[in-house]
Amino acid sequence: MLLTSLLLAAAQPAAAPPASPPANRAAERALFKQIVEMQTVTGKTAEFRKLTTLLTSEFRKAGMTTVVKDHDGTQTLIARWKAPRPSGKKPILLLAHMDVVEAKAADWKNPPFEFREEKGFYLGRGSSDNKAALTGVVLALQKLKASGWAPNRDIVVLFTGDEETGMKSVKRASTEWRDLIDAEYALNFDAGGGALYKDGRVDAYYLQIAEKTYADFKLRVENEGGHSSAPRPDNAIYALAGALKNLEEYRFEPMINPATRAFFERIAAGDKGSFGELVTKWLENPTDRRTADLLEANEPGYTRTRCVATQLSGGHAPNALPQRAEANVNCRIFPGVSFDQVKADLQRIAGKDVTVTLDTDSSTPPTDVSPLRDDLVAAYQAAVRTRFATASIIPVQSAGATDGAYLRAVGIPVYGVGGLWGYLTEPSNAHGLDERVVVEGFHDQVPIIADLIRRVGS
Ligand SMILES: [Zn+2]
Repeated sequence: MLLTSLLLAAAQPAAAPPASPPANRAAERALFKQIVEMQTVTGKTAEFRKLTTLLTSEFRKAGMTTVVKDHDGTQTLIARWKAPRPSGKKPILLLAHMDVVEAKAADWKNPPFEFREEKGFYLGRGSSDNKAALTGVVLALQKLKASGWAPNRDIVVLFTGDEETGMKSVKRASTEWRDLIDAEYALNFDAGGGALYKDGRVDAYYLQIAEKTYADFKLRVENEGGHSSAPRPDNAIYALAGALKNLEEYRFEPMINPATRAFFERIAAGDKGSFGELVTKWLENPTDRRTADLLEANEPGYTRTRCVATQLSGGHAPNALPQRAEANVNCRIFPGVSFDQVKADLQRIAGKDVTVTLDTDSSTPPTDVSPLRDDLVAAYQAAVRTRFATASIIPVQSAGATDGAYLRAVGIPVYGVGGLWGYLTEPSNAHGLDERVVVEGFHDQVPIIADLIRRVGS
C-alpha cells in the first residue's frame, strides 16, 4: 500500500529546489524505466528473477553484497552494506517490495508495463506502489557510496516479492532468515512520503508508526433445510441477513493512540470550520461514541476497529430451504485489540444461530504502535528539509496493512518513511488504472533518502 492523506492543514511556502543535474536525472530515469517494465506480478517468477539480477548488479555498484531467496513462486532480495568500522549499534533495515498488483491491459489507456512520461508524471503499473521508492533506495545507496561515505552500522535492505498477495517474503524474513535481516528498526519505504499542494506548497511528510491488523471472519449459519413449499420458522439466510444488518449498525469502541492523535490534532489545527470543531471535541474525550461516530462518517477507519461484509453465499436450489448461508466480514483492527476480542464482539452482534470463525490464513499479525523515536523524527525532518525548508513530519497510522506488520510482530519497530512526494489533489492511482508518480517527486527523493540513511547510519 502507499500512504495518501486528505489533510488540509495550513501549509508554508516551499523553498526553491536545487534541481538535480541532468546527467543524474537521465540515469535515474533509465533505471526506473527498466524496473517498471519488469512485470513482477504474482506467478511470474521469471520476471522476479530478472529484477533481482538487475538489482544485484546495482547493489554491487554500491559495494553491497546480496542474497536472493527463491521461494513460494517469487523471490526475496536481501542486501547488506557492511560497516567498515562498526560502532556496535544494530543494523538499520530498509524495506520495500518488488511485486506489483496485476493490471488488465485492456482497461489501461497505455500498456501498463510500458514506462511513459506524460504531463509531469511517470506512468506504469507499480510506478507508485512501490517501485519509485524501491528505485530511490537503490539510487540513494549508490549516491552515498560515490560520495565516499560509509556507515558505522550495517545497512540492510529487504526487498520482498509478494507484499500485495501472500506476504510470505516478510513472514520468512522475520523468522527463518531473521539473522540476515535483524535490525534495531526498519524504515518502510512503502508507507511514508510527502504531500504537496499543486502550487508547490508542502503539506507534510508522513511517518507511519502504526497500522491496523487485517482479518477476515466467516459468519456461517447451518440449517436442516427442506422443501421450500413448507417454510420452517428458522432459515439460514434470514438468520445471516439479520446478523449482517446488526453489523451494519454496530460501531466498535472508539480509541486513540499517538499516531491517530497526531493525525487528528493536525486536522484540528488546520480546520477552523465545523469539522475542525468536531475533531477538537473528540480529542478532548476520545471515548465519546457519538462524536467518534460523526468523525467516522468523514474519516472512516481512524477512530476504531471497522468490520464490513464483503462476500455472501447461501442456498443450493431455488426451490429448497437453505441448508447453509455464509458471509465474509473483513475487519481492520485497531492496534492493541486482539482477534479474540473482535470475534467475541462479532459473535455477540450475530447471535447464537451464527457461527463466527477467524480465517487465520488471511490475517496479518496484531501489532502495537512503534514507539516514536526523537532521533529518527529529527533525522527524517532534517533530510526532508534539505528540499522543503519548512516541512513538518506527521506520525500516522495506516488503515491498511503492509509487510511492516510482520516485523513489528517479532519486535522490530517499523517506521514508514519516504523521500518521494505527490500532489494531494492528483492521486497516484496505486492498484488502479494508469498508475503514476510525479516526475519531480521521483527525482527529489534520491538526495532526501541518501541524507536520511547518512543520518541514521552514522
Ligand atoms: Zn505497496
